Amino acid sequence: MTIETLSSLKLSFFILGFILFFILETIYPNRQWDTNRYKRLAFHTTFALINTIIMRLPVLFVLMPTLLIVSESHIGLLYSITEYDIVKLILSFIVLDLALYWWHRFNHTNQFLWKFHFVHHVDTHMDVGTSVRFHIGELILSTFYKSIIIFIFGISLAEFLFYEIILVLSIQFHHSNIKLKSNVDESLAKIIVTPRYHTNHHTRSRQSREANYASIFTVWDKIFSSYVEATDEERLIMGVENRQLELKLVDNLYHPFNKKVDSD
Ligand SMILES: [Zn+2]
Ligand SMILES: [Zn+2]
Repeated sequence: MTIETLSSLKLSFFILGFILFFILETIYPNRQWDTNRYKRLAFHTTFALINTIIMRLPVLFVLMPTLLIVSESHIGLLYSITEYDIVKLILSFIVLDLALYWWHRFNHTNQFLWKFHFVHHVDTHMDVGTSVRFHIGELILSTFYKSIIIFIFGISLAEFLFYEIILVLSIQFHHSNIKLKSNVDESLAKIIVTPRYHTNHHTRSRQSREANYASIFTVWDKIFSSYVEATDEERLIMGVENRQLELKLVDNLYHPFNKKVDSD
């Protein structure tokens, strides 16, 4: 398979997942939308389009060359640990998910990174659209971070894309405004991040916002003591202190460089 085929495979999963979760949250919504849903969709689609266009450059010049070097020359820690493809696939998956846990945590603890990640949290609601709400600066910086992880651990192109496809579906799922039965959500949350679990991370309350960093496996929050359950009251208010920025495209893009607006 060529790089183009694999990349378009990821895009196909992204589009199908987005449509699926959009339909599901239309049929089984959990919270009422305060802002016009289609206005939100238009904002998030524009955000995603800008990101997709700009991201072609770091993917083409940083991520893909790293993946090709690793895949062809078999360098990296995991190649020296196992020669079985399936074992390496599982280990790569775990390593990437652990690395993403820490990346997300750094995005909250480092003031420079937080200015970019803030744009994801400025949303006062949470639905499948929020899953594409990432500042281009955060995405570019994460490309460098991921490339370093790929290089150190020796993660192949196929292994990386497999993880990314599951990650995209997981992010769409846990941001979606779907009402799951509480026992189903509770059982799932023992293993993977669910909509209720990720709501903890989107509350205005800093206690639960600066916790619950997992992207796929919830075990990382348990291991690194960052699981905090929000109260029902805290769940009612999502976002950050700033309630004006939410759907302003230029202001969101400019935010990390804007010294006049606080990132609280
Ligand atoms: Zn976050
Ligand atoms: Zn989120």
